[in-house]
Amino acid sequence: MATTKRASGTPTPKTPKWTSRAVIRDVEAGSTVDCASCGERVKFQAKMRNRQVICNVYVNGHWDRVEHFHADCYAAAGNPHGEIVGPLDQRRSPSPAAALRQAQQHAQAS
Ligand SMILES: [Zn+2]
Repeated sequence: MATTKRASGTPTPKTPKWTSRAVIRDVEAGSTVDCASCGERVKFQAKMRNRQVICNVYVNGHWDRVEHFHADCYAAAGNPHGEIVGPLDQRRSPSPAAALRQAQQHAQAS
């Protein structure tokens, strides 16, 4: 098979040395940042133990800005600034179990 010459304009972006990084943190009291995904305030709620994803965003190898996300929004957006790096809290969020229980209760009710 004849190999046609590849289009020279193939978009192969070079990976800059400094790339965006994402870490996960507990939301602190008095937080006044807005989620970059949904636009809602990333609120501290004592009972909720909310998590936020903080991203250092690099553009063309240079630090550009910090973006904050709700932890759920970051995952829902498909990790726009890469996988979360750094230490993760070992404790599992109780929400998946709670959701499962809710689903089971719903199944029994019907
Ligand atoms: Zn959000």
